[in-house]
Amino acid sequence: MYDYDLLVIGSANADLVIGVERRPGAGETVLGSDLAVHPGGKGANQAVAAARLGARTALLARVGDDAYGRLLLDSQRAAGVDTVGVLVGGAPTGVALITVDPSGDNSIVVSPGANGKLTPEDVRAAGSLFHASRVVSTQLEIPLETVVEAVRNLAPGSRFVLNPSPPRPLPPEVLAACDPLIVNEHEAKVVLGDALVGDDPADWARILLARGPRSVVVTLGAEGALVASADGVARVPSVKVEAIDTTGAGDAFTAALAWRLGQGDALPEAAAYAARVGAAAVTKAGAQESYPTPEEVDAL
Ligand code: ADP
Repeated sequence: MYDYDLLVIGSANADLVIGVERRPGAGETVLGSDLAVHPGGKGANQAVAAARLGARTALLARVGDDAYGRLLLDSQRAAGVDTVGVLVGGAPTGVALITVDPSGDNSIVVSPGANGKLTPEDVRAAGSLFHASRVVSTQLEIPLETVVEAVRNLAPGSRFVLNPSPPRPLPPEVLAACDPLIVNEHEAKVVLGDALVGDDPADWARILLARGPRSVVVTLGAEGALVASADGVARVPSVKVEAIDTTGAGDAFTAALAWRLGQGDALPEAAAYAARVGAAAVTKAGAQESYPTPEEVDAL
């Protein structure tokens, strides 16, 4: 009955990465490695992660009419994502300028570009995608009013998943639609604001749940995750792996969770599967390049 298991609404960025001996200070120039260009952005990452797992996935996003926009469209299509909802033009493709030093610390400048031009009007014009999708997943690298409009355009019976990253306080209308709201420690603190009490993630999950979402997931990196719903709070076991690069692990986790929930898994089962997908993603370098196939998830 649905054409898509998952509709991802979100950002698409070109990640421009240069390795440096030392990150430059103000007014300073340093020489670095050859430039590496990777497709990224939380929306584009989620869509690729879901499609690689076998989900029928569509992306609603905006890229520039430029070489980076074409790179992003190509990487989506190569992963099997339907790009009918990817709009082109209005601003240059979003870019993240990333310098990484030998210890792995990085400095990042993001130019949102076309991501900032994905408007509520674009969401309304994509109504047929909403009606064709079992689950809708989004993040906050696009304007908040676009996310609000996505909530208002949900088809009856479809499910809404939000990872509020980069985090900011959320309107009640958005919180109430989340099933689940997915946060890491940093995001939990920003969304909770002054209400954060103590350092027990189970408490954060309970307080977040009281703000209106139907369910909450707190991801804890190598410690796994917590799920919270009317059934209570449960711990999702972590999967022991040798971490090579955690970039994009949260996006893979969110995409896998959203897809599995749409396939009928209960929240703890879906989160356990997503934790394996997240763990697989940290065993390889990069974001989209690191996302596993179902066979690779089963092999963990
Ligand atoms: P984010 O990237 O948003 O900060 P996390 O770092 O919490 O999110 O990672 C998301 C999920 O990926 C975690 O809940 C966990 O299941 C998995 N994960 C992340 N890092 C590791 C790790 N080092 N070992 C095993 N699993 C990991």
